[in-house]
Amino acid sequence: MACHQEDRPMSADIRTIPHFIKGKHEAGASDRFGDVFDPSAGEVQARVPLATRAELVQAVEIAREAQIGWAATNPQRRARVMFRFKALVEENMEDLARMLASEHGKVVADAKGDIQRGLEVIEFACGVPHLLKGEYTEGAGPGIDVYSMRQPLGVVAGITPFNFPAMIPMWMFGVAIACGNAFILKPSERDPSVPLRLAELMREAGLPDGVLNVVHGDKEVVDAILEHPDVKAVSFVGSSDIAQYVYVKGAENGKRVQAMGGAKNHGIVMPDADMDQVVKDLVGSAFGSAGERCMALPVAVPVGEDTANRLIEALIPEIEKLTPGHSLDPDAIYGPVVTAAHKARIESYIEMGVKEGAELLIDGRGFELQGHEKGFFVGPSLFDRVRPDMRSYQEEIFGPVLQIVRAKDLEEAARLPSEHQYGNGVAIFTRNGLAAREFAAKVNVGMVGINVPIPVPVAYHTFGGWKRSAFGDSNQHGMEGVRFFTKIKTVTQRWPSGEVADQSFIIPTMG
Ligand code: NAD
Repeated sequence: MACHQEDRPMSADIRTIPHFIKGKHEAGASDRFGDVFDPSAGEVQARVPLATRAELVQAVEIAREAQIGWAATNPQRRARVMFRFKALVEENMEDLARMLASEHGKVVADAKGDIQRGLEVIEFACGVPHLLKGEYTEGAGPGIDVYSMRQPLGVVAGITPFNFPAMIPMWMFGVAIACGNAFILKPSERDPSVPLRLAELMREAGLPDGVLNVVHGDKEVVDAILEHPDVKAVSFVGSSDIAQYVYVKGAENGKRVQAMGGAKNHGIVMPDADMDQVVKDLVGSAFGSAGERCMALPVAVPVGEDTANRLIEALIPEIEKLTPGHSLDPDAIYGPVVTAAHKARIESYIEMGVKEGAELLIDGRGFELQGHEKGFFVGPSLFDRVRPDMRSYQEEIFGPVLQIVRAKDLEEAARLPSEHQYGNGVAIFTRNGLAAREFAAKVNVGMVGINVPIPVPVAYHTFGGWKRSAFGDSNQHGMEGVRFFTKIKTVTQRWPSGEVADQSFIIPTMG
C-alpha cells in the first residue's frame, strides 16, 4: 500500500487532515498517520490520521443516535438538504476541483468531471420522496389490502478508492442518506480532503450532525466497520482482492455488501468503424486520468490484420503528442499517477510486457517533467501483439498503457472480454447495428458501450460490473442503490367488519 504509517517525526508545519464526526473536526486519537502526497511535486503535503477501532465504535454510536431523528424527517425535507448540497458543491466547484487535483494528480478539468458525475447522483437522490413510494394493492382478498414500504437500514458505511474521491463517496452517501440512513464514510487515505469537504458542505446544507461522519483509516478501521453489529450495510469500491475480502467478511457478519473491484476493459474495433473517431476515443479513454479509471479502455482489439495496421498507424502520432503535465496546469492532458509506488508498479508491468514478448511501440517509462522531476509522472505507452496468455494482459495495470490484442474475427474478439477475469466495461466500435446488438446481448461484461468508449451509465441507471469486477448482487446508484440502502416491509391488513370468521388451519389463500 502506497500510503504508509508515519515512523518519522513530522515537521511542525505539516497539515493534518481531520476526521469529521458529529459535525466537528476531530484530530484522531491514534498515533498512526498516512502520508498524503502532492503527486505533481512528488512530496508529502499533509498527513491523515488512521483511526483506531475505538474511534470507529464511537462514530457508529453517534451515527446510530442521529439516524433516529433523520429517518423520522419526512423525505421531502431530506431531499431539500440534497438540493442545497448540490447548489453548495456547484458554488465550490473550482476549489473542490483544485483540491482534488492536488491530492489525486488528475487535471482540474477532469476533477470537475469527477465532482459532476457525483452531483448527478445527488440530483437523482433529490427525487427520493418519489423513489421511496411503496406499492399498494386494494382488495388483494376479501376486505384485505396489501402494501409495502421501504425503510432505511440504520447506520451504513462506504469504503472508497483513491481514483474518484468525489464521485464515488457521492454515489454512496447521496442515496443512503436521502433514504434516511446515517453514514460512515471511510475514504481512501491517499486523497481524503475532498470527501471531508463534501461532508462539511452536507452539514452546511442542513444535514443534522452525526448523520454523515468521515473516519479516515486503513485495514484496522475497515475491519472494525465489517465487524460492528450496528453497521447494517457496506458499500465498497476498490481493487478486487480487497473487494472480495470485504464482501466475505461483511457477509459473514450478517451485513449487506456490495463490493466493486478492478477492471480491464476492452474496446473492439471492427473493420467498418469510423477510424478517426476510434483513435480519438481510444486515446482519451486509455490515457485520460493517467489510466487510473475503472472504466478506462486499456485494451484495444482490432478485428483483422488490416484494421490492426490502420489503427496502429493512426494511433502512434496521436499518442506521441501526449505528454503528462502538472495537475494544476490547464494545458496538461493528464497528470501524474497517485504515488511513487504506483508509478513503479506501472513501470514494472511495462517491463513484464516486454519480457513476455509483446511489442512495445511507445515506451512511457522514465518520464520526467521539467521543473517537477520528483513528480510521479508516467509517459504514455503502447503495446502491440499482446496475447491473452500474458500476465501483463490478465492483470489490471491502472496506468497510461494501451495494449493491442489482434483478433481474426468478431467471435475471437468477443471471447477476450467475455473470458477475462474482470467484466466491468467493454466497448465495440462499428457501423453494423446487428453485430453491435448481438455483441451487447452476448458479451459476459456488466456495462457495454456501442461507439461509446467509457460507458459509465447515467445516475438514474445503475453502475456495476460482472465477474471479479463486482462482488454481491446489487449495483451502485439508480433504483439498485435505493434497494440496497433500504429494506422492504410488506403489510397485509384487514379491518374488523363485525362478522367473525372461522378459525383456519390451512394456509390462507386469496383464491
Ligand atoms: P484499494 O483496494 O487499494 O483501496 C480501496 C479502499 O480499501 C480504500 O479505502 C483503502 O483504504 C481500503 N483498503 C486498502 N487495503 C485494505 C486492506 N488490506 N483491508 C481493508 N481495506 C483496505 O483501491 P485503490 O487503489 O484505492 O483504487 C483503485 C482500484 O479501485 C482499482 O482496482 C480500480 O479498478 C478500482 N475501482 C473500481 C471501480 C468499480 O466501480 N468497479 C471504481 C473505481 C475504482
